[in-house]
Amino acid sequence: MSIIQEIRCSTCGAPIKFSPGEIVATCNYCGFTQVIETGQAFVFEHSVILNEYKPEQVDELVHNWMKGGFLKPGDMARASRILDKNLMYLPFWLIPIAATTSYKGVFERLTPPVVKEGKIEKKYNWLVLARKASDFPTREYEIPLEGKIPYDFKRIEGNAKVLNSEVEQDEALKTAQQQIEESHRFLIQQDVDKIMEMKTEFETGKGVYLHAPAWSIDYEYRHERYHIWLDGATGTVIKGDIPAAKFGLI
Ligand SMILES: [Zn+2]
Repeated sequence: MSIIQEIRCSTCGAPIKFSPGEIVATCNYCGFTQVIETGQAFVFEHSVILNEYKPEQVDELVHNWMKGGFLKPGDMARASRILDKNLMYLPFWLIPIAATTSYKGVFERLTPPVVKEGKIEKKYNWLVLARKASDFPTREYEIPLEGKIPYDFKRIEGNAKVLNSEVEQDEALKTAQQQIEESHRFLIQQDVDKIMEMKTEFETGKGVYLHAPAWSIDYEYRHERYHIWLDGATGTVIKGDIPAAKFGLI
């Protein structure tokens, strides 16, 4: 069980609840975003992408998703029942970052093996989830940035849960660099079989703090519970558990 603590919003005086580990909190009453420790206004750009779907529409989106795709059991849409669905605004850091990786490696698929050198140069708007323990599939999520507007608490649904940040920008930046390096390592391994040297240089822009809508949905199919993450801005399933289809005994 987590202990909920409370501070006063330094703009409107309303109580702001937060849990241990949360660093940046947004007031539900006036939308003011502040650093919990100091009560100071948050100095970065704070944006939001709005949810576009009502709960009934979400049911329909899930139903349609269940009907499509050949890997799903044929009776999935008919035999499933939605148990629970919650709209959440998840906190992210969006970090503009240019990464250049120079590498040297051995290409062993030829005899004799050859040493190859190369360079990967890429620009990203890298997304880091600002929560520590979460099963949200950030790497599978294509954040719909075209809907990004300045944070406006008045347009956030009353039943939505706005999660606070547990990750500071500097930490998010380190995470982004590690993840980019890993992805470049993967790319290099397509080109050489053994990496001898690899060095990545980063150029980072100013991060944006962003809340984006996701529906966390639990459903039941033949007495088992499964989970779906659905993008509240586009209505697409980001990641959904699919029950193993039973093809019977062969
Ligand atoms: Zn307030």
